[in-house]
Amino acid sequence: MARDKMTPEKEAEYEAALQAALDAGAKILAEGGTAMDAVQAAIIPMEDSPLFNAGRGAVFTWEGKNELDASIMDGRDRSAGAVTGVTTIKNPILLADKVRTESPQDFLMGEGAEQFAGEQGLETAGPEWFETEGRKKSLERMKERQMSALDVDLKFGTVGAVALDQDGNLAAGTSTGGMTGKRWGRIGDAPVIGAGTYADNRSCAVSATGWGEYFIRVGVAQEICTRLRVAKMQDPKAVAEMLSKAASIADPIDPIDVDSLLASVSTPVQMAQNNADMVMDEVKELGGDGGIILVTPEGHAIYSFNTSGMYRGRATSAGVNEVAIFREGIDPSAPPIMSNTPDH
Ligand code: ASP
Repeated sequence: MARDKMTPEKEAEYEAALQAALDAGAKILAEGGTAMDAVQAAIIPMEDSPLFNAGRGAVFTWEGKNELDASIMDGRDRSAGAVTGVTTIKNPILLADKVRTESPQDFLMGEGAEQFAGEQGLETAGPEWFETEGRKKSLERMKERQMSALDVDLKFGTVGAVALDQDGNLAAGTSTGGMTGKRWGRIGDAPVIGAGTYADNRSCAVSATGWGEYFIRVGVAQEICTRLRVAKMQDPKAVAEMLSKAASIADPIDPIDVDSLLASVSTPVQMAQNNADMVMDEVKELGGDGGIILVTPEGHAIYSFNTSGMYRGRATSAGVNEVAIFREGIDPSAPPIMSNTPDH
């Protein structure tokens, strides 16, 4: 994602689309709606927009088709729904939610998923709805240059949303066309619960975008949530003392004092940011790239990404409302976003 490849007009178009998605989700939450409804309300306009790699505007497979993946998870009870390889469903996120609520399964694929969608009365669309010129050209370019399906500029644009509602419930959802030129029924992380999407009221809600193979291997979304859940069970002072001791062994001349460590391990927002960054570092160490959006039960909305940019936005009841694309748009290490907990 390079700034020099983005015109001011295109940038404004993306920002407007992000803002529309953010507004749609925020409105539901402000009116007392559920996090599950907010996540879907935010994802639908992005699936319907040709700008993103989901629904309309999805990337093409090697065979020149748009095969869509989506997943959704409810942090209240960890119920989940996911679909992969669907080609006719206008809003795959709605189908994922129907799988969650109306089927005994969690994960459906291809024709079977479409048959189920028909039974549920979901709206369908022909190939012309999903196809866009730009994505077709990406596939042609890839074939001409004999690039791999994993070539870096051919994969981003997956959409996702995470939300915390007024009742304290979390939800996460993700929708994608996958990667340009994907073959052999390749499935990425986006529809895999635990990799691209995870929500658990005890820890956080996460939605991911990036090089799916690596996100699957690390189990990114669940790994972050699990680390947070376990971290919360520990006594922050004991953790700070342990870290300080370890630091003084590693560097006896310049040890880190317990109080400053305590500050960095004891607030939910720092804990969330640190754990998300550590998991994204693991993705990077293995050779992958991408990013995540995350919300905590305390209402902190954070990002972590190891790319030059990530389409993103966040809004809170305390009045934060922002969208950004490039890394410098919002500094991920900027002062924490607050909802109603001024001490965090
Ligand atoms: N994670 C998606 C996949 O691997 C691609 C993306 O995020 O753009 O299918």
